[in-house]
Amino acid sequence: NRRIVLASRPQGEPVASNFRLEKVNKPVAGEGEILLRSVYLSLDPYMRGRMNDAKSYAEPVAIDDVMVGACVAQVEVSNHPDYQVGDWVLAYGGWQDYSVSNGEGLMNLGQNPSNPSYALGIMGMPGFTAYMGLLDIGAPKVGETVVVAAATGPVGATVGQIAKLKGCKVVGIAGGADKCAFAVNTLGFDACIDHKAADFAQQLAAVCDNGIDVYFENVGGKVFDAVMPLLNTSARVPVCGLISQYNATSLPAGPDRLSLLMGTLLVKRIKMQGFIIFDDYGHRYPEFAQDMGQWLNDGKIQYREQVVDGLDKMPSAFIGLLKGENFGKLVIKVNDP
Ligand code: NDP
Repeated sequence: NRRIVLASRPQGEPVASNFRLEKVNKPVAGEGEILLRSVYLSLDPYMRGRMNDAKSYAEPVAIDDVMVGACVAQVEVSNHPDYQVGDWVLAYGGWQDYSVSNGEGLMNLGQNPSNPSYALGIMGMPGFTAYMGLLDIGAPKVGETVVVAAATGPVGATVGQIAKLKGCKVVGIAGGADKCAFAVNTLGFDACIDHKAADFAQQLAAVCDNGIDVYFENVGGKVFDAVMPLLNTSARVPVCGLISQYNATSLPAGPDRLSLLMGTLLVKRIKMQGFIIFDDYGHRYPEFAQDMGQWLNDGKIQYREQVVDGLDKMPSAFIGLLKGENFGKLVIKVNDP
């Protein structure tokens, strides 16, 4: 059993030495338990928060503990009545080949799911996040303008496509020409602006000529600075993530713009609401699965995955994710089915 543990806590950007690959004995499934052999491991931005020694909405990973994360695995041994050998499951096994579970929090995907890795992306946590954050907090109406950054990642790409299905004008923000072309040509966004362009804020203002009604916040920082003056009266801002700040070790230097933000919220009666997907919306997963399953079947939603081979590549792929080096949902294939 190979596993990757947290060797040390990062100061700013994570580096390779914050992780350590170890070989340990394969765990054994006890009474009522199942042994899972991981095939796909998920890499997600929230894992950066778990590397800090600070209580957030979840506990940090302890030094020398296995890095946390979701996996799609197959049952190798079952001492549990609800699981058969060979079943595919969505589990929270962490960055390792094998894990043991008592079945709590698992989702059984059956013996022959058509796209098992989708449970980590479009049919799983990121897709669900996009769906609830946009529809429940963003509440987009036909003809409104919806803006989303990290536009080609699993959350942003899904937000924009659902907003198109709801009849909105959709403007993406992404890093680089290739990602922007993908957002427009494949995902069907009306426009996509490169946040690395020197005149990014001007380009965004030009394309959002009727202002912004829903800004789905994934990144924060200078992207939010460009969005804020464009927000319309009664705009909604689901606050999903702030990835541009995840490696920060202190607050950005002044000037203090908090009163500008508060004044904008007040005068324009803007609703800005954070959410943590499973804590706030876990009970609504079936509704999402029904709609998303249908949209995928009907070819109404496109989904891009980037599959990287090998457990040993996880640290470098994760470091890259925080810098925008991924293109699509980042999944690590660790074993053959
Ligand atoms: P992505 O696959 O989209 O990966 C992150 C992307 O963020 C990068 O590819 C990059 O895209 C972009 N990015 C990174 N740094 C910056 C920066 N400084 N400025 C602008 N963009 C940057 O991730 P996900 O779709 O999985 O997640 C998107 C967001 O949703 C994250 O903030 C995540 O934490 C959040 N999230 C929140 C949940 C919740 O419950 N609240 C649940 C799931 C996700 P590019 O090259 O285009 O800039």
